[in-house]
Amino acid sequence: MRLALIAHDGKKDAMIALAGDYLPLLRRCTLLATGTTGARLAEAHGLTVERMLSGPWGGDLQIGARLAVGEVDGVIFLRDPMTPQPHEPDINALVRACDVHDVPCATNVATARLMLNLWSAA
Ligand code: PGA
Repeated sequence: MRLALIAHDGKKDAMIALAGDYLPLLRRCTLLATGTTGARLAEAHGLTVERMLSGPWGGDLQIGARLAVGEVDGVIFLRDPMTPQPHEPDINALVRACDVHDVPCATNVATARLMLNLWSAA
């Protein structure tokens, strides 16, 4: 399972907590993440994560490009709906790429848990 993980600044603590609840699964996955999210996950949980650029510098687009060529099986993208993001077009492009390629994309913790529960059981 190849999983991409992205969290906006206001959601990074939630991403760390979420990942902590699914470590056995995440250790079996190939993980990629935007720069700061990946660094936080590696630091907090010792996960091996391929880090892209930070989101505002193009990291979401890099993940979208990998997804478009079939290299990503799922995305957990904890967006902060309360804070405007300078890279909104990139965010939309990634979510659109998920829809174009029919790749599961969880944009909140509740949906992410459903996705991860399913994969943990698989
Ligand atoms: P970051 O990028 O993990 O490098 O903070 C996420 C984003 O803001 O899109």
